[in-house]
Amino acid sequence: MTRPRIRHVIWDWNGTLLNDLDLSIEVMNGLLARRSLPPLDRARYHALFDFPVRAYYERLGFDPVRDPFDQLSVEFISGYDDRRFGAALHRDAAPTLAAVRATGIDQSILSAYRHETLHEIVAHFGLTSQFNHIAGLDNIHAHSKVALGRDLVARLGVAPDEILLVGDTLHDFDVAQDLGVACALVAAGHHPIERLRKTGAPVFTVLSAFAAAHGF
Ligand SMILES: [Mg+2]
Repeated sequence: MTRPRIRHVIWDWNGTLLNDLDLSIEVMNGLLARRSLPPLDRARYHALFDFPVRAYYERLGFDPVRDPFDQLSVEFISGYDDRRFGAALHRDAAPTLAAVRATGIDQSILSAYRHETLHEIVAHFGLTSQFNHIAGLDNIHAHSKVALGRDLVARLGVAPDEILLVGDTLHDFDVAQDLGVACALVAAGHHPIERLRKTGAPVFTVLSAFAAAHGF
């Protein structure tokens, strides 16, 4: 049985459209250095990063007694936000969004990033008009996008099997499974291709390859 035609694409933001892998590593290395903990490079980050972010912080070696998770979150987000305009979009992000829009397919963002900051940065890149909905979390703790995703799908008025979620992490795959929507993964962000391939979802190296495969 062929899947119904896709009518709506839900995009992840960080790592999928925004190329913020190195920025995230650099900001986290600041937290680690201030506590004399070993720094991250891309390979170690790719191996350790995960949702919920709390477990990832523990794997980095932070002492949860001396450094409660909530305080580490504040320190990371504050460091990230100070430099948030230092990360660029992936080179093929804006052309891919425009190509999807040109086919008449609607698009939204579902992000674990804080709602207000998400709106601000999407506007900074001139992309606001590409999206019907821009949904971010109401807190900085990046626990899960599942509840937010359910709210978004309910608002779209589109059957789940006509929705495609595009992300860069295993959490995006888990969210898509929970929502009952199709999933495509792009290995240009926060998780490496070998971890993404284990999901069984289609994995693309870059957004332009995703776009070509879908005829956008
Ligand atoms: Mg992401």
